[in-house]
Amino acid sequence: MTKKQHYRPATQLIHGEVERTLFAETSEALFLTSGFVYENAEQAERTFKGEETHYQYSRFNNPTTKALENRLAALEQAEACVTTSTGMSAIFASLLPLLKSGDRVVASLALFGSSYWIVQNLLPQMGIEGIFIDGTDLQQWQEALSKPTKAVLIETPSNPMLDILDIQAIADLTHKAGGTLIVDNVFATPLYQKPLQFGADLVTYSCTKHIDGQGRVLGGAILGSKKLLDDHIVPFTRNTGLSLSPFNAWVFLKGLETLPVRIEKMTNNALHCAKFLEKSSYIKRVLYPGLKSHPQYTLGQKQMSAPSTMIAFEVKGGKKAAFTFMNALKLILISNNLGDSRCMMTHPATTTHMKVSQEDRLRLGITDGSIRFSVGLEDPQDLIEDLQCGLDAIAALT
Ligand SMILES: *Cc1c(COP(=O)(O)O)cnc(C)c1O
Repeated sequence: MTKKQHYRPATQLIHGEVERTLFAETSEALFLTSGFVYENAEQAERTFKGEETHYQYSRFNNPTTKALENRLAALEQAEACVTTSTGMSAIFASLLPLLKSGDRVVASLALFGSSYWIVQNLLPQMGIEGIFIDGTDLQQWQEALSKPTKAVLIETPSNPMLDILDIQAIADLTHKAGGTLIVDNVFATPLYQKPLQFGADLVTYSCTKHIDGQGRVLGGAILGSKKLLDDHIVPFTRNTGLSLSPFNAWVFLKGLETLPVRIEKMTNNALHCAKFLEKSSYIKRVLYPGLKSHPQYTLGQKQMSAPSTMIAFEVKGGKKAAFTFMNALKLILISNNLGDSRCMMTHPATTTHMKVSQEDRLRLGITDGSIRFSVGLEDPQDLIEDLQCGLDAIAALT
């Protein structure tokens, strides 16, 4: 519904792009159907020829997943969106259709574990060169992108150490090298950072995280120009079957209605917790885009409208202190998920980034004392008291 398009994001996420059925339901209908019927054989023929718009099969499209795609596109101010079964299928489907053997891909080393695996292991198997650099170092980008490069993959802020990368500068260098820039925007969420406005070509999400926000279902999304999606990405997701389930799309539509209030509260909680942790003598460093101590604080201020919900910190005393801290928590869960309404902590070196070599882990700043903290919706005072339990347990060690 185009007449709703001028509304601001919080309004659009509730009222935007609603297509009601003839029953005039308030909340979006859930179309749990794999197929669709035609009035006659001629209509089926016209549909397959592309002469008539008609749903064909839910691997291609479905009214519920379409509603989610329309709403995500409006939020991102993108021409087009395609949803996928998971965040990882979104990353995979934004890379693979652009590449052929002999091509070259450059990525920042600070990537989600499975994204790292794709560039490190899968692409070379297909004869595609995958190069990792320190994404915060523009000189390394200049060098790496002085050769023709088909695709560049970055995450900012990155998982798990919250590096902030200069999207605009990397986009310019990528385009000079003839490539497509893909930005995994999970940590910032679509509300707090708009990579397309800084020159990125594709933005990906794991909807599993903040968009669901209550840790229920898996899903992903890719956004960008209609041409790039129609020519490359959509034929790939449709024909390889990376499609999102309509049920999961419906859960995400419900999640989007409350996304602005949830992440605002989670961000406030995160700032509160980050400031508390930074004061402790048992903590070596806290990385949070909302703290002036963050190495790329100024860039974050320029590129993000809020510091979002993720914190990384390092306890003094290595793995023993990190495990003691986590095991002493009564409220904050030990879990490798993120973006949930519940607070969660994980120890990247032994979980999400276990498969990254020790050498690359250290290059990323992931030490045995590093902990990733996804901040939830709980009362901030309860969180501070829980963090204090962790700190007390480290104190008792010494
Ligand atoms: C979770 C996550 C992914 C992968 O998403 P799934 O839905 O688990 O497949 C990719 N990138 C980032 C930054 C993530 O946090």
